[in-house]
Amino acid sequence: MPSDLVFAPLGGFGEIGMNLSIYGFGDSRRRQWIIVDCGVSFASEEHLPGVDLILPDISYLIEERKNILGLVLTHAHEDHMGAIMDLWPRLKVPFYATPFSAALFEARRASEPGAPEIPVNVVPAGGHLSLGPFEIDFINVAHSIPESNALAIRTPAGTVVHTGDWKIDPTPIVGGPTDAARLTALGDAGVLALIGDSTNAVREGRSPSETDVAKTLAELIRTAPRRVAVTTFASHVGRLRAVADAARAAEREVVVVGRAMERVVQVARETGYLQGVQDFRGVESYGYLPPDKVLALCTGSQGEPRAALARIAQDEHPDVTLSRGDRVIFSARPIPGNEKAISQVINGLVEQGVEVITDRTHLVHVSGHPRRDELRDMIGWVRPKILIPAHGEALHLAEHAGLARKAGVPHVLICRNGDLVRLAADGPAIIDEVPSGRLYKDGALLVSAESKTVAARRRLSFAGIVTVALALSEKGVLAADPDIELIGLPETDAGGASMTEIARDAVEIAFDALPKPRRRDPDAVAEAVRRGVRSAIAERWKKKPICYVHVLTV
Ligand SMILES: [Zn+2]
Ligand SMILES: [Zn+2]
Repeated sequence: MPSDLVFAPLGGFGEIGMNLSIYGFGDSRRRQWIIVDCGVSFASEEHLPGVDLILPDISYLIEERKNILGLVLTHAHEDHMGAIMDLWPRLKVPFYATPFSAALFEARRASEPGAPEIPVNVVPAGGHLSLGPFEIDFINVAHSIPESNALAIRTPAGTVVHTGDWKIDPTPIVGGPTDAARLTALGDAGVLALIGDSTNAVREGRSPSETDVAKTLAELIRTAPRRVAVTTFASHVGRLRAVADAARAAEREVVVVGRAMERVVQVARETGYLQGVQDFRGVESYGYLPPDKVLALCTGSQGEPRAALARIAQDEHPDVTLSRGDRVIFSARPIPGNEKAISQVINGLVEQGVEVITDRTHLVHVSGHPRRDELRDMIGWVRPKILIPAHGEALHLAEHAGLARKAGVPHVLICRNGDLVRLAADGPAIIDEVPSGRLYKDGALLVSAESKTVAARRRLSFAGIVTVALALSEKGVLAADPDIELIGLPETDAGGASMTEIARDAVEIAFDALPKPRRRDPDAVAEAVRRGVRSAIAERWKKKPICYVHVLTV
């Protein structure tokens, strides 16, 4: 049996979010594995009512647990790190992260009551890690959080470059630029496969630099007539730093509003990413500072209803208020699915007379992902034999694949969650399928996306429920009037007839239509009544509720 290098994504391929990839080395009966990233997706309330987060299904990893050498984190964004707290206790494998990521993980964990103890092994930024047959180098790449790393994974069967999330920014505000020299050196030595970020593969050109955004922010903050609030992703330390510098230049004090932001600020100070930045003020001082001497740095750029900005927009924040003539800057872009929630916050602010500035009119945000010219540069540095597009929906993966083919990459493969891919110099091949899927974080529990729980909840939210209770004697006679309850249905039909009465009539008609001997069979009665009620209501409403019939034999 030859020793193969294999790769399988368990999340993030064909979707944005929930990134989890595994690499395996050895023959098919005794492979050793490493996991790269373990992230979440955010659920939209309409599609998944009551679900907070979506996590990758790791049943395959649980099965292979004793062969897993470690979990390696590229960076501390939630779509890469957010599932570790819930899933690690099922794996208990060594967990590796660079200092900032480790500290942010630890701070997040400490903020969650009852969270499990999860030891983090710290790898220095730009450092190295040996895990069995895997020699892993952490290579600095620019992104929208400190310490984003591409991983160069060396094995006896060849080297893989797993880019993680990256962009090219010659002048990032924190951390160094993407380490082109190291990536080029890897290319010189020979790279088997490049597994790369496709998020912005549909966008031509290059992304602007964080420094360009900082200039716009500085101008908008300098010219603001009264109070200024800026919202951005809490973990975007470079952006926080740009805002702090702009505030200092405009002689404004920075007040941090929102726990996630406070946490990141503390971690960034401890790990040196806010060195030289002035002290920020506590939220309690907001009210005492003159309007032209204060800047509020707020959570809630995605319209999250419990975050600072949403509460300010509803005039419900205990310490922070905004009013006519104040300026709010959205230094972020909506994550798909959050547009409505964000509009609601913006409208709330506009109704209070606040001026709202977004990236539609000003360069107040840039993405942390590579556009097409940057993807071409990466291919040019690394010169892989194989390219597999990662981190994207179907369109992004296809665009990245097309670009790679045109750039002359010999083998380009699009794969999906659960594909087990053999990586070999004569070309990659999907050789098997491993179990994959989704889990939902539902309150304190994890439920399988395949279970009926959430689907039933969605049906309930769409069409309500009718329950019917019948008391049936042994002789097949109804012993009492049926008990009928409607939840979430219209009270009357178009002609004003009561829906409850329509259901009651349907129960009687369905029961009377049953041949006498069948009326003694509780199951037959229940099924006939259920169908009768559903169709009678559907006829008036053109929607079918869920209908439960309980038959008690008396
Ligand atoms: Zn990501
Ligand atoms: Zn990221």
